[in-house]
Amino acid sequence: MNFPTRIHPAGCGCEDCHRSGQSVPLDLADESAIARVLAGQAANDSGRALVVSTTTAVAPGEATASSAARVVVECDGRTWDVSCHLMAVTSFHPPF
Ligand SMILES: [Zn+2]
Repeated sequence: MNFPTRIHPAGCGCEDCHRSGQSVPLDLADESAIARVLAGQAANDSGRALVVSTTTAVAPGEATASSAARVVVECDGRTWDVSCHLMAVTSFHPPF
């Protein structure tokens, strides 16, 4: 399976977005593609900032939050809940 390695600006009509699948326009990016950006496996070349919000949980018996319970990315009025997709992307570590 071919995963996009770059997020291009919304509405992009370049060869990579339309034929090879190496890139995907921001407006067509799915949760998996956005999760790959957070994990460093795809580049955000959209020209827009992706705003990442994390909700953490303290598990029973734990003193501190050790993992992100929910990760939501917002950009241009769109929201992607990438929580489930990040589990498949092992290199992502929330910054806390
Ligand atoms: Zn493109």
